[in-house]
Amino acid sequence: MYDKKSYDIEVAWQINEFCNFDCVYCWLHERDWENSKRFVGLQDTEKVINGFNKTGFAWLIHMSGGEPFFFPNFLQVCYELTKKHFISINTNLSHKDVFEFSKIINPEKVDFIHASLHIQERIKCGQVQDFIDKYRVLRKRGFNIFVSYLMYPESLDRFRKDYDYFKSKGIILRPKVFWGEYYGIFKIFDSIFFREFNHFKPIRNLLKKTYPNAYTKKQKQLINFYIEKSSQEEDEDLKFKRNLRIRTVDLNLDKKWINSLISFKGMNCSAGKDFVKMDQTGGVVRCIDENQYQLGNLFGGEVELFREPRRCSADICSCPYVGCRYVCGNTIVGGA
Ligand code: SF4
Ligand code: SF4
Repeated sequence: MYDKKSYDIEVAWQINEFCNFDCVYCWLHERDWENSKRFVGLQDTEKVINGFNKTGFAWLIHMSGGEPFFFPNFLQVCYELTKKHFISINTNLSHKDVFEFSKIINPEKVDFIHASLHIQERIKCGQVQDFIDKYRVLRKRGFNIFVSYLMYPESLDRFRKDYDYFKSKGIILRPKVFWGEYYGIFKIFDSIFFREFNHFKPIRNLLKKTYPNAYTKKQKQLINFYIEKSSQEEDEDLKFKRNLRIRTVDLNLDKKWINSLISFKGMNCSAGKDFVKMDQTGGVVRCIDENQYQLGNLFGGEVELFREPRRCSADICSCPYVGCRYVCGNTIVGGA
């Protein structure tokens, strides 16, 4: 087991934009699957490994996508990276290589696995049991795995039932607050066609609800209740591990932004120094919102980090898990 000082810097690397699921709430949704030009990830494994190694830092490499398991040679990349660095992964847990991953990767070098249960897609593919099986294998091997469930408006009514079902299988679902637009029965107005024509904008504005602000009082109560309950019910083993280190993606924090998006504007934040955001081809910026600070390219040159924390100028912190961890003093100053 290690503590937070075991790595020098954390990077949130969006490694690809390819995914086998097609969740209705995803930014990948509505792309052309048949002629998919979605980027599955860099082919040059050596370039990736050397990119991290040559910096001389020990990294915590947080990988998200798309679906990271589709990245070319993903298992080899994880294996090589975990020789010197730590990794964490956001995954839908659907790829068959999850089983092999559990055998060849050292759980001690994996900060966490954030498995998202996309229940509608799982039901559509007849793969609910597959999720349970993979979760169990990873837990058995000692990985720090936790499961999120997006509190999308259409999923709220079924959440209690799903919570009880998965709990009976040994899985605690952690509610995740939804950020985004929702059109309900008018979902056609969220299609590319309607989005591209400006004269539909007034109708779209009229029909859309924007979350989290649009949650009703009752829905907020439900979500807050289950944030607490799920936190308590994560089994003792997992809690023990979690207490030994700070986890950037901490779903207990979701209650901070259940009313509105949050901002740390004006406060000092060590993103750019202790944390960076990286795109699919190695381009490094301070964070999603402060991407005017371009810090170099990890796979094609040098990266120059901030020496000290700097003031945040963003109206919204789009990755508040990062803000909550890296803002100095950590006080939310506003919302939108
Ligand atoms: S599993 Fe994740 S990346 Fe894939 S479509 Fe769903 S939300 Fe998007
Ligand atoms: S508070 Fe959020 S938006 Fe501001 S610099 Fe830090 S991570 Fe970026």
